[in-house]
Amino acid sequence: MYVIAEIPSQATTPELYKIVSQHMIHGPCGLANPKSLCMQDGKCSKKYPKEFSEQTVQLLDGYPMYKKSNSGSSVQRSGVILDNRWIVPYNPYLCCTYSAHVNVEIHSSVTAVKYLYKYVYKGHDRVMASIQSDEHNEIQNYVDARYMSASEACWRIFHYDLHDRSPAVQRLAVHLPGQHTVLYKDGKAVEALQTSKDTTLTAWFKANQEIPETRNIHYHLFPEHFTWNV
Ligand SMILES: [Zn+2]
Repeated sequence: MYVIAEIPSQATTPELYKIVSQHMIHGPCGLANPKSLCMQDGKCSKKYPKEFSEQTVQLLDGYPMYKKSNSGSSVQRSGVILDNRWIVPYNPYLCCTYSAHVNVEIHSSVTAVKYLYKYVYKGHDRVMASIQSDEHNEIQNYVDARYMSASEACWRIFHYDLHDRSPAVQRLAVHLPGQHTVLYKDGKAVEALQTSKDTTLTAWFKANQEIPETRNIHYHLFPEHFTWNV
């Protein structure tokens, strides 16, 4: 069983039960905790509680509906009883190895590309921290702070590369006159579009105009002789 979304047996797997109870429960949110960070417009943005299901079903959108049996097993969190519908999918081996929250999902449709893309460009690791004072109870702010581990800090300090391309591939633009892709910021003057930057194609035309020796180099071979600086 690679992915489970149910409360494990406390009798047969006490260690896993402890870890899942601590780390793999969503909420409470909804009516029990309307101020939960996942709540948007009065609903849980993560769509918890999920539905009970006696078996895992593959839905059309690529996401499965995990087996969440209505077995009566539950755990208590922040004074609220939560059943299988509130369990975040996990892999027992990973949870026990790291003794931490490790969400594992099955995704099998072609939209997996979109899912992976989102993760790659999600940005830095972040932590949601709550600062509270028991004595005065004045400080109760949630801080959406950037989290940087020691290894990432060292990487930055030593100015190591943050990305690399292998093999380095440059897509050469092909477009009709005045129909190249232009990126501009919302609210920026439209005039900026007229003075937009060159594409690889317009830069190639310009090079042909300005440097006669380049005229016998085909477009696709141009990068062998010239560097494209955006
Ligand atoms: Zn929620």
